[in-house]
Amino acid sequence: MTASAHINPSPDRAQGVLMGSSLNQQGQALYNRGQYSEAEKVFKEALDVKLRALGPQDYSTGIGYNALGETYIRLGRLDEAEENIKKAIPLVSSSAHDSAYYRENLAKVYEMKHDLVKAKEERLQGSPNSIICAEDNCTVFPLPHPLKYCSRCQSIYYCSEKCQRSDWKRHKKFCQSPAN
Ligand SMILES: [Zn+2]
Ligand SMILES: [Zn+2]
Repeated sequence: MTASAHINPSPDRAQGVLMGSSLNQQGQALYNRGQYSEAEKVFKEALDVKLRALGPQDYSTGIGYNALGETYIRLGRLDEAEENIKKAIPLVSSSAHDSAYYRENLAKVYEMKHDLVKAKEERLQGSPNSIICAEDNCTVFPLPHPLKYCSRCQSIYYCSEKCQRSDWKRHKKFCQSPAN
């Protein structure tokens, strides 16, 4: 023991990865059960560990920001959702899939803010062949690009009519023709 012990020592990298991913799993379990306020606390803790152990530029830190952002979407806290997902996107740029997935999350935030123009722009940021199906539970792989889009708002993309129908309960609250 040295006399100059840190009051709040940062975990080292290996510890940080372990602690961060374990907390992330706990957060995900709460999220999956719909316990979003509890999930928020755990995801915040996970992000704090990652920030201290891995720094603000790490891929894993990006995963942390996105998880927190998704939780804020569920809590209807859209500004916080936007802020966190915006931080997440550049950190996962090495993966076309994760980038497209996080951009879809951000697009949904814009959609919920009734800004369909920004939502569409966000979805079209990457390659047209990396756009993902907007139905959250879609498991189709590989996706049949180019994807179909909603004929009314022309801002949201689906792999099939089945997925479009399945997302309609959510999307109809925001869908409107660009002319309006
Ligand atoms: Zn789909
Ligand atoms: Zn639409």
